[in-house]
Amino acid sequence: MAEYIWIDASSNVRSKTKTLQKPVSSADELPEWNFDGSSTGQAPGDNSDVYLRPVALYPDPFRLGDNILVLCETWDSDGSPNKFNFRHEAAKLMQTHADEHFWFGLEQEYTLLGPDGWPYGWPKGGFPGSQGPYYCGVGTNKVHCRDIVEAHYKACLYAGVNISGINAEVMPAQWEYQVGPCEGIELGDQLWISRFILCRVAEEFGAIISFAPKPVPGDWNGAGLHSNVSTASTRAEGGLKVIEAAMLKLEARHSEHIAVYGEGNEDRLTGRHETGNIDKFSWGVADRGGSIRVPRQVAKDGKGYFEDRRPASNADPYQITGIIVETLCGSS
Ligand code: ADP
Ligand code: MN
Ligand code: MN
Ligand code: MN
Repeated sequence: MAEYIWIDASSNVRSKTKTLQKPVSSADELPEWNFDGSSTGQAPGDNSDVYLRPVALYPDPFRLGDNILVLCETWDSDGSPNKFNFRHEAAKLMQTHADEHFWFGLEQEYTLLGPDGWPYGWPKGGFPGSQGPYYCGVGTNKVHCRDIVEAHYKACLYAGVNISGINAEVMPAQWEYQVGPCEGIELGDQLWISRFILCRVAEEFGAIISFAPKPVPGDWNGAGLHSNVSTASTRAEGGLKVIEAAMLKLEARHSEHIAVYGEGNEDRLTGRHETGNIDKFSWGVADRGGSIRVPRQVAKDGKGYFEDRRPASNADPYQITGIIVETLCGSS
């Protein structure tokens, strides 16, 4: 069984299953397929066929054996990429600048909701005690849904996703996992597969995964997709100078970045709750209240990576990594 997975018009994953006659080991052995794009907001009803082109395969952690997950790009019948196929442009950029060896590590935060849409484990219609005991918490009433989180972690490892760790977050029922470092387009591919696995695992438990950047208004932390970035030259001796030069380029294109860093991010990037202000670019060493943080260790070593803290939890990793490459490799 091959589970063909794609991204719809609203950054949700969709999938359907195809029976194969024999095991396959690479995406180009798989047939193209199609779906009804008018049912996913990806095509008009009178020209509804959207094509699925397999681009990456992963062992299926649910069906096991020879069964696979198949990540696909979406293409229109006239041979152009679908409007919501953000992978295509990103892959071209990654290819053009392959010799920079961009590495990305993304920290995916998300919130677990019960079937009623209220955060899992919160009193019905009420609130838990204020934030403090929950971040990296251990124990009943400090964390919720560890069973789901563990199942997702193991399933990602089985599928070959380069998941580098997990932690409970500041708001109860909010968690984080990290994917990466991955080179180039791999990061977007693996992050989308990890999201598919998360939503699929949560089905088994009757929980809802929310990627909303500010799931509960008020004095509760929002959810982000911190994006850690390095290149061959930031990782080499003298790399800190290259990072400082990159900050100027990123500052000049702040609003272009914000435009693709997720829906509803204005409710999260308030300058409070460990965020920078949405209207103003800032960066600093060890500063969690800025747009970009250079880790203390990187400043000390004089080389390494930086953390773009602006992307929201619901942002598209192809768009994030794509615009970062475009900005850093641009001339201005
Ligand atoms: P934080 O302190 O911000 O919570 P995390 O430990 O959650 O940091 O995440 C750090 C991320 O940075 C990981 O996903 C890791 O893969 C990534 N990372 C580490 N080194 C590099 C590097 N040189 N280039 C890109 N990403 C990196
Ligand atoms: Mn983190
Ligand atoms: Mn976090
Ligand atoms: Mn972070």
